[in-house]
Amino acid sequence: MAWDFQTEPEFQAKLDWADEFVRREVEPLDLAFPDTAAPYDRRNPVYKKITDPLKAEVRKNGLWACHLGPELGGPGYGQVKLALLNEILGRSMWAPNIFGCQAPDSGNAEILAHYGTEEQKRKYLKPLLDGDIVSCFSMTEPQGGADPREFRCRAVRDGDSWVIDGEKYFSSHADLAEFLIAMVITNPDVPVHQGASMFLVPRDTPGLNIVRLAGLGHEPLGHGHHAYIRYEHVRVPRENLLGGEGQGFLIAQTRLGGGRIHHAMRTVATVRKALRMMCERALSRRTQGGPLAEKQLVQQAIADSFVQLEQFRLLVLYAAWHIDRGDRNAARTYIAAVKVQTAEVLHDVVRRALHVHGALGCSNEMPLVNMWMTVPVMGIADGPTEVHKVTVAKQVLKEYRPYDGLWPRDFLPERTAEAKAKFAAYLDDL
Ligand SMILES: Cc1cc2nc3c(=O)[nH]c(=O)nc-3n(C[C@H](O)[C@H](O)[C@H](O)COP(=O)(O)OP(=O)(O)OC[C@H]3O[C@@H](n4cnc5c(N)ncnc54)[C@H](O)[C@@H]3O)c2cc1C
Repeated sequence: MAWDFQTEPEFQAKLDWADEFVRREVEPLDLAFPDTAAPYDRRNPVYKKITDPLKAEVRKNGLWACHLGPELGGPGYGQVKLALLNEILGRSMWAPNIFGCQAPDSGNAEILAHYGTEEQKRKYLKPLLDGDIVSCFSMTEPQGGADPREFRCRAVRDGDSWVIDGEKYFSSHADLAEFLIAMVITNPDVPVHQGASMFLVPRDTPGLNIVRLAGLGHEPLGHGHHAYIRYEHVRVPRENLLGGEGQGFLIAQTRLGGGRIHHAMRTVATVRKALRMMCERALSRRTQGGPLAEKQLVQQAIADSFVQLEQFRLLVLYAAWHIDRGDRNAARTYIAAVKVQTAEVLHDVVRRALHVHGALGCSNEMPLVNMWMTVPVMGIADGPTEVHKVTVAKQVLKEYRPYDGLWPRDFLPERTAEAKAKFAAYLDDL
C-alpha cells in the first residue's frame, strides 16, 4: 500500500520522545529566555551550560541535525520525517537550535556541503554542524531588496584576493555569527545568474561594519538582530569564494528551497497550537448562557481553521515527499505553493484564535500577539508571496498547451455534437 498516512512505529517512538522532551525541557526556555536571538548566542556561558546537556540528549536519541544525510553527520531520515519532527519543534523558538536544524544555519550548511572545498568544510561546515558556531546569510540589500538584478554590492579581484564593497540589510544574526555567506555581484556585464558569486567572510574581517541592528515590529527600536551591514573594502582570500565565480544565483536557489519548506513545517506547529488554544477557550469561556463553543460562528471559526490546517499540513508533507523522491520539478511547484500558504493559513487561524480570546487574546499575557507577529514575516522572508505565486503559475502553465481552433476545447456546441455522433444509434432508439 503506497499511499500510507501512518508513521512507521520506530520513528513514531522518536517523535513521541521529542514531543515530551520539547514540552518538558525546551518550551520553558522560551519563557525564561525570550530574547529571539538567545538560542543563537553560542558565546554566552549560561546558555551553553543549559543547552549542552539538552543537545547531548537529542544526539543520543538520533535526532540531531535531521535535515542532513549521514555523510554530514545527520541521520538522513529525509524531508517527510523532518516535516513530522518540525511539527513538534515549531512549538518552540529554542527547539530548532537544540535539535541542530535552525535557519539560516541549516541552509548555509547545505550549500557548504554541496559547493565547499575540503578546507572550507573543515573550517566552516564542521563547527557549524557540531553546533559550536552560528552563521549568517547576507544577501538582501537596502536599495535592491532580495532581487539580485538590483544588487549594488560588488566584489572585484585584486591579486589573490577579492575586495567587497556595498551594503546589505536584514543579515540576520550577523552580530552573533562566526562567518557570513555574502552574495555579491562579481561581473555586472553579464546576466545576474552568471554574474553573482558567494563569499565566505569571517565576522572579524576588517571593513565588515554593522551600521545598526534592526528588530522586528514588536521589538523596541534599537533591539534586534537583523544587521544593516556596510562592507567597506572587505578583503577575503581567493579561496573564500564558495562554488565557482558566477555561481551565486544557482547556489542561492539551492539554499532557499530548503529554508522555505522548513519554515512551513514549523508553521504547522504554530497553527496547531493556535487551534488548540481556540478550542480550549471556546469550551471554557461562557457568555450569554453557554460556552462559546456552542455559538455557530465560533464553530465556523474552528471548522474553517481545522480544514485549513489539515490541507496545509498535507501540502507540506506532499512537497517533502517530492523532495525525497528527487523530483526537482514537482518539488519546485509544491515548495512555492507551500510558501504561499504558510502566511495565509497562519494569518487566518491565529487571527481567529486571538479573536476568540477577546481582550485576553490582545494582551501581552497570552502568546497570541507574538504568534500574530510572525504572519508578516512568513509572507516576506525567503521571498514575498507574490513571487512564489508567479512560480506556481509558471510551473502549472508548463503542463498545458494553447488550444488550436476558434473555440475553446470545452466549447459545448462542438463537444455535444461529437458526443451525440458517438451515441447516434442509441439516441435514435430513444
Ligand atoms: C525576519 C526576516 C529575516 C530575514 N533574514 C534575512 C537574512 O538572514 N539574510 C538576507 O539576505 N535577507 C533576509 N531577510 C530579507 C528577505 O529575504 C527579504 O525581505 C525578502 O526576500 C523580500 O525582499 P524585500 O524586503 O526587499 O521586499 P521587496 O522585494 O521590496 O518586496 C516588497 C513587496 O513588493 C511586492 N513585490 C515584490 N516582488 C514582486 C513581484 N515579483 N510581483 C508582485 N509584487 C512583488 C510584494 O508585495 C512584496 O511584499 C529577512 C527578512 C525577514 C522579514
